[in-house]
Amino acid sequence: KQIPSSDSINTTCPYCGVGCGIEVKVDAKAQKLADIKVKVLGDKTHPANFGKLCVKGSAAGETLSFDGRMLAPQFKGKTVSWSSALNTVAEKFTQVIAEHGPDAVAFYVSGQFLTEDYYVANKLMKGFIGSANIDTNSRLCMASAVVGYKRAFGVDAVPCSYEDLELADLVVIVGSNTAWAHPIIYQRIAAAKKQRPSMKIVVVDPRQTATCDIADLHLAIAPGSDANLFNGLLASLGQNEALDEAFINNHTEGFKEAFSHAQILQGDIHRVAKECGLEVTQLQTFYRWVREHQKMVTLYSQGVNQSSSGVDKSNAIINVHLATGRIGQVGMGPFSITGQPNAMGGREVGGLANQLAAHMDFSNSEDIHRVARFWKAANMAQSNGLKAVDMFNAVATGKIKAIWIMNTNPVVSMPNANFVRQALQRCEMVVVSDCMQHTDTTEVADVLLPALTWGEIDGTVTNSERTISRQRAFMAGPENARADWWMLCEVAKRMGFVDAFDYQNVAQIFREHAALSGYQNNGTRDFDISGLARLSDEQYQQLTPMQWPVNVENPLGTKRLFSDGKFFTPSGKARCIAITPQAPRYKTDAQFPFVLNTGRYRDQWHSMTRTGKTAKLMAHRDEMQVEIHPHDAAEKGVVDGQLLCLQGKTGDYRLIARAQVSAKQRRGELFVPMHWNRQFASAGNVDALIPAVVDGLSGQPEFKHAVVNVQPF
Ligand code: SF4
Repeated sequence: KQIPSSDSINTTCPYCGVGCGIEVKVDAKAQKLADIKVKVLGDKTHPANFGKLCVKGSAAGETLSFDGRMLAPQFKGKTVSWSSALNTVAEKFTQVIAEHGPDAVAFYVSGQFLTEDYYVANKLMKGFIGSANIDTNSRLCMASAVVGYKRAFGVDAVPCSYEDLELADLVVIVGSNTAWAHPIIYQRIAAAKKQRPSMKIVVVDPRQTATCDIADLHLAIAPGSDANLFNGLLASLGQNEALDEAFINNHTEGFKEAFSHAQILQGDIHRVAKECGLEVTQLQTFYRWVREHQKMVTLYSQGVNQSSSGVDKSNAIINVHLATGRIGQVGMGPFSITGQPNAMGGREVGGLANQLAAHMDFSNSEDIHRVARFWKAANMAQSNGLKAVDMFNAVATGKIKAIWIMNTNPVVSMPNANFVRQALQRCEMVVVSDCMQHTDTTEVADVLLPALTWGEIDGTVTNSERTISRQRAFMAGPENARADWWMLCEVAKRMGFVDAFDYQNVAQIFREHAALSGYQNNGTRDFDISGLARLSDEQYQQLTPMQWPVNVENPLGTKRLFSDGKFFTPSGKARCIAITPQAPRYKTDAQFPFVLNTGRYRDQWHSMTRTGKTAKLMAHRDEMQVEIHPHDAAEKGVVDGQLLCLQGKTGDYRLIARAQVSAKQRRGELFVPMHWNRQFASAGNVDALIPAVVDGLSGQPEFKHAVVNVQPF
């Protein structure tokens, strides 16, 4: 815990999946750690942002105070020593496993973990405890995109780079308010369009968001009708002889079935217009632009993923790219963008319950043996664990008796959030490691472990375009706070797994992670960073951003995947998937006549434990509001600013919030931000209104489509 010796440190932003580089200027003349002053600037050398930062990133330096931090380990509300707290956790986990088996314990982790923390957590649970009950809040964010990629390409691989968005002639943004949720990506697209006005931008979103400011065409589709739209596009491309027959024949399989399905179901443009709630002319324009612009990127995010049929929606998008050969080339590709800063790193280490490390898979027994051999695993898990919603259901039924929640706040962010609170209150032991003392989740913990946070932690993250960057510490944390990987290793050693968790630093963990990616990988696995497996500690410190794969063939990284038309399926061909569009699980009715959509505000992040600290960020929107169409407001006798009460299918829970009357909403649809919770003197938490309905393939919840009633309060 030293005052940094350098006065300028390159790191990455703690917030979204764009993964911008930040240059932190530290006033190293300070005599005391508490006196250190930092200035946050965009890193001009980082390939994600080239020096730019959005308002959240540029205010990150204002969030560094220790106000509200967790300052000591605690057990049942009393401060205890680290050694006592770690012993308590290790003993309880050991006892539960001995009495009930390894599936009676679980870890719930976070897309804000650094890759090294993620790696150690995954290794402990899957290789040594012997269960795959480790899942992550990334399940709520991009699990459907993962399964969509795996179905199409055989692996979970994002084909594109950010620069493809600038080099495309047509950018189709689906289910993403990029301007607010990924501002630097939005700024890059906007700048490219300004420079090249012929570039077309289509926004597909039920709401008229800030992203529509640069759109040539806004398709305000009926919620959940994305697959209808893209099935219709595929059929239309076929009808207009605009398919790439050579690519289809040489590089895909399943096309005939996928196409005839689309043709039968959505081959009539009038029918598609009706299903999507659009004008036929709007569809004709969109479909024509796709035919006219070969360089097309489809950028998609939570509006696609957070759905009970999110996987099918992503495959409907990918089908179009495969059928027209728009993949692996400059300015082309299906590009899912992640919400959190290290959701991608979590995917790489296997941090989801249905993954193995280094993009290996439980469905392949040789993968299980390979990972077990590499880890010298004492007790290797043999099959998928419980995904987030099922995991908390298992806590509620008592099947899971001890859970360790790291770096995340599920009592706010899970669907049916109050059920999750009650489940945790009944659990035999809830361990929470967090940097903040008071969150909705720390309230229900038996053991609290104080964690270091951004600015204090050291490791790597991977952003949405596969760029691995170093996140570096530039200040010391509270005296008693510790890195997550350290806590995990200390518990592992106390559970008897001494050798496998005897890491001295994060560089050692990273080298092992990189080595595993290349272990017995003869080009059969996409995730390969074996080129980084021999970095010295010093080289790791100096590591500059690199896009994986980084290996013998690509020592400096890789901009685009699948440029050679080869995929990681058994046949080497990409799979087109026949898609039958599914409506959202719940329909509106007389009792619940409104669709409730949730999402982000521009200046807040998740449950606001960091962004809520700055007046500048709170000034944008200082409370949650219910966006409602003027006609709906008039029918309800509601005026702007009036308090509303929302109730849905999650029992008696009622959410009270102020109306924001806005013609940018479709009629019959409401929008409420996801950030507010009990810690912010709010009347409630919108996720308590979201039923725990999930996509059957990915387990991702349907946060974009609940049904509710709304009344003046
Ligand atoms: Fe941070 Fe995302 Fe803003 Fe970049 S775009 S500065 S990563 S919040």
